[in-house]
Amino acid sequence: MKLKIDLDKCIRSGECYYNHPEIIRMQDNGDPEIIVAEISTPELKRHAEQAIEVCPAMAISLED
Ligand code: SF4
Repeated sequence: MKLKIDLDKCIRSGECYYNHPEIIRMQDNGDPEIIVAEISTPELKRHAEQAIEVCPAMAISLED
C-alpha cells in the first residue's frame, strides 16, 4: 500500500514530517513529500497510521 498526501487539503502545519521523518520530509517550498515508495512493513504502517492521525487537515491517506 501507498501513503498519499492531498496537497489541496494540506495546510503545511508540519506535524507529519516533524513526527514521522522516516516516511515524510519537508520540501524546500514547505510542502510535505512522501519518501517511502511502499508501506511494506508493519512498522511503516504504524508510522503511516500515526501520521494520518496527527494531520489536522485530514490530508494523508493510505491506499492499496
Ligand atoms: S500534517 Fe497534514 S496538513 Fe500538516 S503538513 Fe502534513 S499533510 Fe500537511
